[in-house]
Amino acid sequence: MSLSLETYEVDIETGAVKGQEAKILMIYTGGTFGMVMSESGSFEPFDFQNIPQYVPELKLFEFSLKVIALKDPIDSSDMSPMYWIKIASIIKDNYDNYDGFVVLHGTDTMAYSASALSFLLENLSKPVVFTGAQIPIGEIRSDARDNLISSLEIAVQKNENGGAMVPEVCIFFDKLLLRGNRAKKFESSHFDAFKSENFPELAEAGVHIDFREEVIYKPNNKDLIAHLKMSEHVVILKLFPGITEAYVRGICELPELRGLVIETYGSGNAPSAPWFKKVLQELDQRQIVVLNVSQCDEGTVEQGRYESSQVFLDNNVISGKDITLEAAVTKLMYLLENHPLDIVRRGVGRSIRGEQSGEQY
Ligand code: ASP
Repeated sequence: MSLSLETYEVDIETGAVKGQEAKILMIYTGGTFGMVMSESGSFEPFDFQNIPQYVPELKLFEFSLKVIALKDPIDSSDMSPMYWIKIASIIKDNYDNYDGFVVLHGTDTMAYSASALSFLLENLSKPVVFTGAQIPIGEIRSDARDNLISSLEIAVQKNENGGAMVPEVCIFFDKLLLRGNRAKKFESSHFDAFKSENFPELAEAGVHIDFREEVIYKPNNKDLIAHLKMSEHVVILKLFPGITEAYVRGICELPELRGLVIETYGSGNAPSAPWFKKVLQELDQRQIVVLNVSQCDEGTVEQGRYESSQVFLDNNVISGKDITLEAAVTKLMYLLENHPLDIVRRGVGRSIRGEQSGEQY
């Protein structure tokens, strides 16, 4: 299958009064959300022209709505930096003309994409809300309708100063609005697919949408910078009992390697084998940026707390603290391609978009 970045555009009829209305742009990438039953009885992606048929409530919205949709929508298992850069450039090109953005995306890699976009879009002051569905829009019990309607309401919501209520990249799913680079997909069967273990929810949707303004990112009043590059030379190494030197070397000796995320045990621990120490020394000599992220979804990396993490402190491995794996890998991809090595090293250990606790960059 060839993966194409071609798009088509659809203006959706709403109840907006022309000239005074807020404007929302939706970007449709694929996933379960847009699937409908074909005449032959299999699921296929729908044509966005037909969305009013599935979500008639759109006619009631008082803002205008446009969609830019991939002509070849993808299952998010096919997501890659090429698509993240496409989404970032659509947002950049349309930034001044819209109040907010909603990205429709498969759930499987949504947390990676939301994290990637949070890094690519520097100085964001408008909402970018990712959402999707566990059941296709063409099914009676679909969660697509509710997720879409609440996401649109969040994207258009203003705070009492007239600024965007949620000027950050986030994920809305089921009832929860989460910071995108703090979220993880936890659940493949139930509707509440996403959680954020190390950071509070930004809002909860019940009868009202209750925003927690005290934890929502504050924009810095600088102009948006959309970074449109990501490194392809970042990899993940997951530790497991019985891991061999050959396996670790197979990954760490990749000739073009620039960044490595090691998924370690507990609070950031590793095996004590001398060969493991030697591999870390060699990575350090090659100036490869190594980030220590825990396999635990809750809690934080604390290098040096146990003897079994001293090897990381000795070899310039940076603690990822409470960052998610999804945010760690996309952060390295972003930093390594857009900044010199000294800034990468400083940025990797600190929060640059609210993705980890502790010191800000
Ligand atoms: N496999 C689908 C995807 O991530 C699942 C979903 O959309 O929920 O694209």
